[in-house]
Amino acid sequence: MRIDLDANATTPVLPEVLQAMQPFWRETYGNPSSAHQSGRRTRGAVEQARIAVASLLHCSPKEICFTSGGTESDNLALAGVLQPFLDRHEPAHLITTQIEHHAVLFAAESFERRGIEVTYLKPDSNGVVRPEDVEAALRPHTKLVSVMLANNETGAIQPVGKIARIAKAHGALVHTDAVQGAGKVPLDLSGEFKNVDLLSISGHKMYAPQGTGALFVRQGVELAPLFLGGPHERQRRAGTENVPGIVGLGRAAEIALAWLEGQNHHLLASPSEADREISGSQSPAELTARRNHLEKRLLALIPEATVNAAGAPRVSNTINLRIDNVDGEALMIALDLQGIAASFGSACTSGAAEPSHVLVAMGLTPKQAHSSFRLSLSRLTTDDEIAQALEIIPAAVARFRSVV
Ligand code: PLP
Repeated sequence: MRIDLDANATTPVLPEVLQAMQPFWRETYGNPSSAHQSGRRTRGAVEQARIAVASLLHCSPKEICFTSGGTESDNLALAGVLQPFLDRHEPAHLITTQIEHHAVLFAAESFERRGIEVTYLKPDSNGVVRPEDVEAALRPHTKLVSVMLANNETGAIQPVGKIARIAKAHGALVHTDAVQGAGKVPLDLSGEFKNVDLLSISGHKMYAPQGTGALFVRQGVELAPLFLGGPHERQRRAGTENVPGIVGLGRAAEIALAWLEGQNHHLLASPSEADREISGSQSPAELTARRNHLEKRLLALIPEATVNAAGAPRVSNTINLRIDNVDGEALMIALDLQGIAASFGSACTSGAAEPSHVLVAMGLTPKQAHSSFRLSLSRLTTDDEIAQALEIIPAAVARFRSVV
């Protein structure tokens, strides 16, 4: 049996989500833009999903633009705001951070090469960006501030509400990459995040299929589209909608909202799947307790282990463990052979020899960053799996040390 401790890379599609998607492959497959009955039916399903995603984020359904995932949402947010300034040859400044996912960082670097000024803020040693640093970086022509909600590698939650208030008072738009926050922490775009203008989510980090996602675009925010074509998604994203994927994302959003509110969401699962879900975490508090137990025991069982970003508020599922003098990548491979999926650096940078840009930005040396790896639990992770991981991981580290 494999133990999946890599939920920040991707999550399985929940049975309820799969079931909701099922009719939209062969039975109800009309193009949502078609005026006939079949099209109207899929249009209805897409709009239902839009309402569900808007409910999770506490915004209007009109403000939800479906995309192909977090990467597209991030690129659309940055390009949508910044490209018009380049087109008009007007100066513009972007403030972002050194700990962003490459979907934001590489987009920012591309705009920098084309003439947009960019400031990349350094986080503190816990991987948290300081609102006062954002304030100090603001310039008269700052047009966009993009700070992620939760870091994919460390789980550190950024003070986005505070940062957004500061940026808004200055007249800049605010984007947050909430890919690792959605479905893990409450996201209230009419409360705590009322000054956020653009927010990215990704389906496959919240038990919907890969290749699905959305960008929240606050009413009144002008966004230049990335794709040109039909008038889909209120002219913000041309292309026939991925109907089954959107339906799945909507169902996953409903389930995430119920889970965040501590409600039972086991409605349609088959008995064996229901078993697994029921033995997973029923609430954020339960997931936090499981993560904390795993973390505490690993620290007790592995000499010289420390948790990166331990002093930061963190999402409830993530552990970034540093074991000095053990190569994180080699350990990850050893764990894989023993049936545990973990991650070295972010999923998207694994395979590259570069140390994690996030850990280096926090002040770790490249060697310390190389000695770090990530364990991320899903809502389906069971106590049994945690117990097995607690046997396998310390033993693997000990073996490692004995050969090195
Ligand atoms: N942003 C963050 C913080 C992520 O963790 C990821 C994926 O790992 C992405 C963006 C990209 O999302 P997607 O895989 O849906 O393109």
